[in-house]
Amino acid sequence: MTVTHRSLRRAMVDTCLAMNRSGINQGASGNLSARAGDGFLVTPSGLPYDEMRPRDIVAMGFDGRYESLRRPSSEWRIHRDVLAARPDVDVVLHAHPTFATALAVHGRGIPAFHYMVALAGGDSIRCAPYATFGTQELSDHALEALEGRLACLLGNHGMVVLGRSLKAALALAVEVEALARQYVYALSLGSPTILPPDEIARVARKMRAMGYGDPSASTPSSSVEGMNNDMEQ
Ligand SMILES: [Zn+2]
Repeated sequence: MTVTHRSLRRAMVDTCLAMNRSGINQGASGNLSARAGDGFLVTPSGLPYDEMRPRDIVAMGFDGRYESLRRPSSEWRIHRDVLAARPDVDVVLHAHPTFATALAVHGRGIPAFHYMVALAGGDSIRCAPYATFGTQELSDHALEALEGRLACLLGNHGMVVLGRSLKAALALAVEVEALARQYVYALSLGSPTILPPDEIARVARKMRAMGYGDPSASTPSSSVEGMNNDMEQ
């Protein structure tokens, strides 16, 4: 077996370790993919990130075929389907962080209770209906909930975040989990005020003008080659 895309594999391992450090990942439940050549790389199934080496990452084609020492993540369909359908992104991150998952087990997305929701590409972060892990049905639900967005929750499951780069996807995952935490606390005081769509559109324009969410300003080494880091949809 030829191990290709060595620097991208290394950057993916580093991103997975950062998912552990930031609390985004719980145990071996998270997974990560990045577009590579005419297919993509995806983290292997059931291997703790602190034991994962670059060569453990699985190279897959969009037909679902792979050649690897390891089996791909059980959620490889989400990674494949998003990367196939969304040329605007090159990285898919999935995890079960505590506060996003707490909302998802109630089937609740995150409305525009805070202007930072705009970072995910719209005036809400939707929650997809529940489906069994690893199924095509779950992938279909995720793709629909991600329409026009860079993040969604998965009912009774966790979150999916997209990015132009590994760095952008990780940063957005941290932001979404922070928003979920803030929203859960806000709900404990009653019903928070929801910002209107025109205000979120104004915020989104301002974020783009300021380069918000644009990770190109620092450490481009963790970006996938050839990506541009514009957050715009
Ligand atoms: Zn999962």
